[in-house]
Amino acid sequence: MFTKEQKNILNTSGIKLNNLTEEDVFKITRKITGVDSLSDNQLVEFLEIANATYRGGFQFITDADYDSIYILELKSRHPKHPFLEIVEPEVAFIGKTVALPVQMLSTDKAYSRHEVDRWVKRLQKSAREINIDDEKLTILITPKLDGFAAYDDGKHFYTRGDGKRGTNISRVFERGLEVGGDGKRGHGAGEIVVETDYFEKFLSKDFENSRNFQAAILAEKKENIHVQRAIDKKAAIFMPFSQLPSWQGKIADLIENFDNIVAKVWAYVDYDVDGVILEVTNETLKKYMGATRHHYRWQIAFKANIERADVKILRVVHQTSRSGRVNPVVEIEPTRLSGATIRRVTAHHYNMVKEKGIGPGAVIELVRSGLVIPKIERVIKPSNPIIPETCSSCQTRLIWNGDYLCCPNTMECPTQIENTIEHFFKTLGNIDGFGPKTISKLFNNGIRTVLDIYQMEEEDFRQMKCEKGDVEKNIMNCFGPVQSQNMVEQLQRSKNEAIEDWRFLAAFGVFRMGGGNCEKLLRHYRLLEAFDLDESKIAEVEGFAQITAKAIVSGLRKIKSQFMKLHDMGFNLLTTLLISELKESGVLSEISGKQIVFTGAMTSGKRTKMEAEARKLGAKVIDAVSKKTDYLIMGENVGATKINAAKSKGVKVINEEQYLRLINKATPDASL
Ligand SMILES: [Zn+2]
Repeated sequence: MFTKEQKNILNTSGIKLNNLTEEDVFKITRKITGVDSLSDNQLVEFLEIANATYRGGFQFITDADYDSIYILELKSRHPKHPFLEIVEPEVAFIGKTVALPVQMLSTDKAYSRHEVDRWVKRLQKSAREINIDDEKLTILITPKLDGFAAYDDGKHFYTRGDGKRGTNISRVFERGLEVGGDGKRGHGAGEIVVETDYFEKFLSKDFENSRNFQAAILAEKKENIHVQRAIDKKAAIFMPFSQLPSWQGKIADLIENFDNIVAKVWAYVDYDVDGVILEVTNETLKKYMGATRHHYRWQIAFKANIERADVKILRVVHQTSRSGRVNPVVEIEPTRLSGATIRRVTAHHYNMVKEKGIGPGAVIELVRSGLVIPKIERVIKPSNPIIPETCSSCQTRLIWNGDYLCCPNTMECPTQIENTIEHFFKTLGNIDGFGPKTISKLFNNGIRTVLDIYQMEEEDFRQMKCEKGDVEKNIMNCFGPVQSQNMVEQLQRSKNEAIEDWRFLAAFGVFRMGGGNCEKLLRHYRLLEAFDLDESKIAEVEGFAQITAKAIVSGLRKIKSQFMKLHDMGFNLLTTLLISELKESGVLSEISGKQIVFTGAMTSGKRTKMEAEARKLGAKVIDAVSKKTDYLIMGENVGATKINAAKSKGVKVINEEQYLRLINKATPDASL
C-alpha cells in the first residue's frame, strides 16, 4: 500500500486512481500481476503513478524496471503513444509553477548497441543532406547522471517540472549548494547529485535511496542536519551538464571502441550514473535535426542492457569449496537472459538462503546485466529453505562461521583437498594430466597434498590401486606403466619450465592471494620475505586493507611449511621485479598507474603528443579532473578557479617543468 509520502505526491500531482486500485498497483509492483495482463489505460496509469513517486523521491519500482519493463511494454504496444511523447514530469511541489527560460526536453534512450548504431546512421544521413562531411563529425559523450533535473539561469533555479514549467527552488543555493565544474552560476540544465560513497557512508541509514535524499534537499521546510552537512561538505552539488567531463571523438573511433569508451565515460564521476549521453557537436547539424516534442534528435542516452526475469527455484544443492565453505547453488527453471540459458545461480551464503527463504518452489527475480554472471536481485515469493546438516563430500557435521556454513574437516574432506590440489595445478598452468579425475584417484590412494604428489616416483604411480578396476580384465591399477612414466615427466617439466614466482605463490590458494595480489605483494617484497611480513607491513602496500593483510598473514602461516618444502624442490622461478628496480631500469615512471589531466597550452610540445607519451609511461590520461585524479599538469594561461577546484579535490597541481622532472625529462625537448 502507498506510504504517506507517496499519497502526498499523488495528491499534489493531481493523479487519481481511475483504472487501478491500490491493491492492483501493489500486485503489479510485486509482479503478481504481469504487465501483459494490464489494459492500455491501466498500464499508462501505472506509469504515471510510478513516475510521479519516483521523481518525488519515494519510488516503489526501480528506474530500471520502469524503463525496461513498463515503458518498453507501452512502446511495443503503441510506439507513438502520447505518454511516450511527453517529458516525464519532475516531482510536483506545492506552489506556483513558472515558465522555464528554455524548454527542457527528455532524452531518447537506447538499450542496445544496435539502437546506437541506428542513431549514428541518422546523424550521418542528416549531415550528408546538408553537405557536412560525416567523417568529420565530432561526438561528445558524458556520463548520464541519475540525479534530480534542474535549471539554473544564473538568477533563479528551477525544477524541470514538465519541461516547460517548473518550480522556483532558488532557496537551495541560499542554503549553500555549490555548482560543480567551474563553480559558476548560469550554466543552464543539470542535475542535483550526491556522491555515491558519501551517500553510502553517511546518508543511507536515514534515506532509502539517493532520490529520496535529493528530494529532501529541495524541501521547503528547514532541511534536516544530514542534508545541510552533505551540502557543506560539497558531497551534494548541482552539476551542470556542460561542466561534466567528456569524451570527444570521431564516429569511426566511437564505433571501433564503443564498449571501452562507454565504460570509461561511465566512471568519470563519483555520482550515481545510469548510462551515458551521446550527442553531436556540430551546431548547424543540431539545428537541422531539431527535436520532437519529447527529445532532441541529435542526442541519445545509452543505458545498460539489463535483463531480468522472475523464475522458480527447483532445488538448492550445496558444494564444499577448497576453503571448506559450503556454497549454495540454486537450480532454477531454465531461463533465457541476454542470449544465454541460465540453469543455476549461486546465492552468497547459507545465511542468505536461511534469511530470505531460498528453497524449492520459491520465486526469485534474476538479473543479468550484459554478459556478466546473473545474480539474485530479490526473493519475490519465499519458501522453506533446506539447510544441509552434513558435508556432501565427507559427511562431517557442518558448522556456522559467521554467514557461512563450513565443513570443519580440513584435513580429510575429499572435496576440500582435491579442489586445493586442482587449484595448484590449474594456477601453475604448465602441467598436463592432473585434472579432477586423476586427483580423485590419488586421493583414494592416500595422497593429501601437492607436496605428496611431487615426492612420488614412477613406481609409486604404478602401484596405485583403483577402488573400481576393470573387473573383466582384472586390471586394478590406476596408472599403467606408460602413464606412470608420463606423470613423473610432467611433474619434472613443471619444475624445469620457467614460471613467475607470483604465480607459484598464487597456486597455493591462500585466501585473498589471487594472482593479482601476489604480484602486487612481490613488487614490494621478495618471495621468501613475504612469509616473514607482519600485518602492518602488508597493509602499507597500496591496495591492501588491514583486514586483507590479516587474512594474508594467517593464510601464509598455514602454508609456510609445505611451501618451503616444495620451493626447495627446485622450481624454476622468475623473480618479480620490485617497484624500485622497475624505476631504476626506466621501465616504470613516477606516473605509471596514475590518473593525470593536462590543462592549458604546453610549451615543450604539442599537448596531444605529451598525452600520448604519458599514456606510454603507463599513466591514465583523462579530460577532466575528478576526485580520482592524481596530477593536474598546468600549462600556460590556466585560470585560478580551475586550479582551486582541482586542489579542493585533493589533486596535486604541478606545472609543466615539474611534470617533465617527474618523468625524468628535465630539459624541454622540442622534438616531442
Ligand atoms: Zn567435508
